[in-house]
Amino acid sequence: MHFTTRNFEILGKSVIPGETKTIELKIATLHTMTELKVPIIVSRSVYDGPTVLLTAGLHGDELTGIEILRQVIRRGINYPKCGTIICVPLVNVFGFVNQSRDFPDGRDLNRVFPGSQSGSLASRFAYRIMQDIVPLVDYIIDFHAGGRGRFNVPQIRIEPNNEELDALAEAFSTHFILYSNNIEGSFRAACDKLGKKYLLFEGGKALDINNDVIEEGLQGTIRFLDKLQMLNNNFTVKEPTREMVCIENSTWIRAQYSGLMQNFVHQGMFVKAGTQLGKITDPYGLVEEPILAPNDGYIICENEAAIVFQGDAVYHISTKLKNDQERITQEI
Ligand SMILES: [Zn+2]
Repeated sequence: MHFTTRNFEILGKSVIPGETKTIELKIATLHTMTELKVPIIVSRSVYDGPTVLLTAGLHGDELTGIEILRQVIRRGINYPKCGTIICVPLVNVFGFVNQSRDFPDGRDLNRVFPGSQSGSLASRFAYRIMQDIVPLVDYIIDFHAGGRGRFNVPQIRIEPNNEELDALAEAFSTHFILYSNNIEGSFRAACDKLGKKYLLFEGGKALDINNDVIEEGLQGTIRFLDKLQMLNNNFTVKEPTREMVCIENSTWIRAQYSGLMQNFVHQGMFVKAGTQLGKITDPYGLVEEPILAPNDGYIICENEAAIVFQGDAVYHISTKLKNDQERITQEI
């Protein structure tokens, strides 16, 4: 390892080697005269190395990722052996305060990237992130959770056919990897266009903190940093206990009826075609309809709502595993 001689400046503030500094990204001044600022925690090693950005709370109601980054900071995982780690545990402070996914202008921040200088409030904020922070980094892990009531099994989402991302996702080693194309306007698509290596972690559901998901996120982050030789010596790497399942294609199963829903499976389970996953009933004893698995596959998300409407997405099931990988485990 070589001592770094580089200057590192972010938002007009320099961070010297060996220093940890909290820097504020000013977003806007509201009509209440309230200044909105997002704290950014930057930790530099004295040794040269890559720069990693860890973000959570892009959707303000996705709390599990916020808790993962809180623990990363609290435990000192963000003090790198080499290079620089930037933590933004809460990107959308607005949404967090309102317990909402969106920005106060009603926009989904994750659909307005790369943003513009003179666009909507959300768009301007996205622009600042892309101008002031992302150019400084090499790798990004962005932590998300399922929409309200939809519990995602912990998973890394990456674009297909990208060997470098494959290797990084393997280093992180969640039980599931889901290949999915970038969505236009997402943070992921904008980072990808700049050539940044980006992993999207999905786990749990909005307005919920789940310890199993947190553990997967934390251990994955530790393994990821170790792969980049950035993990400081206070931490040991726990090897994953399960082999990864790489999902190439998946589909949503939708409710055929409106009604009360009961669920008989749990996320992460492998089910055979025809397995009864749940049932939908009405209050009068007239309707009692099973929800059946259309194919063999893993349940990667389940809708935990007790009342569903016809057409609601209720289960997300894998339809094709990478290289027709054999089923590895019965369930998690
Ligand atoms: Zn999200």
